[in-house]
Amino acid sequence: MPWRSLEQLVFDNTYARLPEAFYAKPAPTPFASTPVVVAFNTDAALLIDLDHQEASRPEFAQLFGGSLLLPGMEPLAMLYAGHQFGVYVPQLGDGRAILLGEVVNERGERWDLHLKGAGRTPFSRDGDGRSVLRSAIREYLCCIALQGLGIPTTQALCVIGSDDPVYREQVETGAMVLRMAPSHVRFGTFEVFYYRRQYEHLKVLADYVIGLHFPHLAGLPDRYERWFNEVVERTATLIAQWQAVGWAHGVLNTDNMSILGLTLDYGPFGFMDDYDPGFICNHSDINGRYAFDQQPAIGLWNLGCLAQALTPLVAKEALKMSLDHYHRRFQQEYLRLMRAKLGLVEEQPGDQSLLDDFLHLLHESHVDYTIAFRTLGSLFSAEGEGHDALRDLFIHRERFDDWAVRYRDRLRSERSRDDERHRRMNRINPKYVLRNYLAQLAIEKARQKDCSEVDRLAAVLRSPYDDQPGMEAYAAPPPNWGKHLVVSCSS
Ligand code: AMP
Ligand code: MG
Repeated sequence: MPWRSLEQLVFDNTYARLPEAFYAKPAPTPFASTPVVVAFNTDAALLIDLDHQEASRPEFAQLFGGSLLLPGMEPLAMLYAGHQFGVYVPQLGDGRAILLGEVVNERGERWDLHLKGAGRTPFSRDGDGRSVLRSAIREYLCCIALQGLGIPTTQALCVIGSDDPVYREQVETGAMVLRMAPSHVRFGTFEVFYYRRQYEHLKVLADYVIGLHFPHLAGLPDRYERWFNEVVERTATLIAQWQAVGWAHGVLNTDNMSILGLTLDYGPFGFMDDYDPGFICNHSDINGRYAFDQQPAIGLWNLGCLAQALTPLVAKEALKMSLDHYHRRFQQEYLRLMRAKLGLVEEQPGDQSLLDDFLHLLHESHVDYTIAFRTLGSLFSAEGEGHDALRDLFIHRERFDDWAVRYRDRLRSERSRDDERHRRMNRINPKYVLRNYLAQLAIEKARQKDCSEVDRLAAVLRSPYDDQPGMEAYAAPPPNWGKHLVVSCSS
């Protein structure tokens, strides 16, 4: 594979060839101060065949700090609308992100280069078009974390920092994160044309998405309904994966829902520490609309909004049938994952209650979700360490003992071998997740111009299922100060 320099990247800007109503064409606004590379993700560079040594060229920081464009780039801000906290907002659009262009790699795969924090666009409303270092690092790290866990997500290539002041609750510094995805089209991209009654555009957009990203459906007479059905499936599967790792998005508005079923738009997201189904990671979400246990239902609600927007293209009955399928698909995937997290291979009738009772015990005793499942793998191991380590986490130890007896019987019923089960469980129960406090420590160092902790944490998160010698501290539960960090929408 010949690695490419920045100048050798190949662009094919399909979105820029769509009707002009689909976007505006602002250029990025560079920082006033010198841009510096805060973080660079070699795995994401591989996706676009980019030579990783390119990150040390001054042009790299200029390019992804918004002060340089490459030949072939055609910057644009995508138009979209969306339901925010249940209310339709007729016009949103990329208010602080700019699609620089679409790179096509050697294998013919295309990747949007989307620069977040690149300055004001015609869709910025009252915003300043900027992102702060804190949120850029959080997005960067969480993309790597979810990718490492095997959960579909946008990718982050790099974070570029600056000394430019950006005003949030406090004065912070501006940063840009270069985000990549095969497409950044959202549910809200369809909604805007539906509510404007621009059905021709709606059709053009649907055919565009199908042609590039669902090519097996292109040209079929029933392509729109089959495509919607696939979006339902992908969304249900994605959310089941979030639930299984204990992750909450925080702002599941329809403008943050990827048409490809990717995790998109990282804001006040959070991995749960102590298991709490009502976990709200977004401090501004007072009513808990986007609480952890609401996500599956919100996924369906958002798909309902997309279905409404597609009514000019697909019969209502067909849309309804796909929506009806959501719950089953979600449940099937969620139970498959949770069964695997318990180390169960066979499906048996009592599995759901075995799971529910375990989760109930975790909740009642405020047990760390990630640690509990990871430790469960070593339960009944020859040394007996796993049992005591896990048992000690519970307030009512005798209740845990009762559950453990049921669990052991259930494992015996399928002749489970403890050592083999332990290995299997370690491939699905991560040891390392992006806990808020870990991100916070990396951010604080980066603010002092020491970016080494961002790199170290990213390296740990790339292999979340491996026991990484010397990195045990990253698997520890949060210290007291790190338990209830406030994360709001202001990023
Ligand atoms: P988000 O909550 O990040 O998904 O953003 C919702 C909408 O607000 C999107 O249209 C964003 O582009 C826009 N937005 C968020 N923050 C800013 C900002 N600082 N400047 C301009 N637009 C913003
Ligand atoms: Mg958004």
